[in-house]
Amino acid sequence: MDEYGLKRNAGYDTLQIRTYENEDGSELPVLKYPELEKLAFAEHCFTMRQGGVSEGVYASMNLSWSRGDDPEHVRQNYTRITRLFHSDPDHVVVTRHEHGTHVIRIDGPGESEPLDMRYDGMVTNVPGIVLCALAADCLTVVFADPVQKAVGICHSGWKGTLGRISREVIRRMQEEYGSRPEDIVCGIGPSVCGECYEINDEIAHRFMEGYPGQAPGFLVDKHNGHQLLDLRKACVASLKECGVKTVLVPDLCTMENPDYLFSHRLMGNARGNIGALIGIKEDIW
Ligand SMILES: [Zn+2]
Repeated sequence: MDEYGLKRNAGYDTLQIRTYENEDGSELPVLKYPELEKLAFAEHCFTMRQGGVSEGVYASMNLSWSRGDDPEHVRQNYTRITRLFHSDPDHVVVTRHEHGTHVIRIDGPGESEPLDMRYDGMVTNVPGIVLCALAADCLTVVFADPVQKAVGICHSGWKGTLGRISREVIRRMQEEYGSRPEDIVCGIGPSVCGECYEINDEIAHRFMEGYPGQAPGFLVDKHNGHQLLDLRKACVASLKECGVKTVLVPDLCTMENPDYLFSHRLMGNARGNIGALIGIKEDIW
């Protein structure tokens, strides 16, 4: 446990807690990678459950519009989070995740409510736009290219990781902005760790096929029809394959920190979502 009460997984990259003040004086803690904070052109954060206004199973920083939470509360939560970006909810873009590998380029201001588009990945080079991906155990990944000044984001559950959505984001940044994979810094958000994420043999088999030669490195057979899958390792493998050098892997597991992070495996559908957010600052030009 750290001083905040979070259970940390040793040997991974530390997500630091940065605490801001809400308009009513309450605390708004978020998680950040120091390595990404150093890239002055962009702002990023991963939200925790603390610091919002939602109640009950959504308490308190829920960023999902579609899980039954009061939309007024969700909007207020976005208002609080986007203050960190010197922005507002109207400049956030959230898509509906489809557990696929489709990536969309975002060129204009978004809407706080999810656009009716089914994409799991987004890229932009427009300052002032805040890209947001939601999860509760699944991986989120933020991408920052300090050379071409472009950013990306994705939601990567087991299907998206099997389909290599992260690689698709990198490809799209190459195509659209001339990014070089070796310049892009990637950060995986708080998510289920390899010791907690149990899957059945059929899914494990699909990973063996999808990541030939590599999958034994992120699967542990429990010999009871179930295996442990380290989704983060699979995601890192998919990024290294295409030339990315820096992938930050979180030391926080959603299933081990349910008081601070939403976990689908622990809470089922009675829960909110945590979010990953990244945007290019407007004052860099
Ligand atoms: Zn865990």
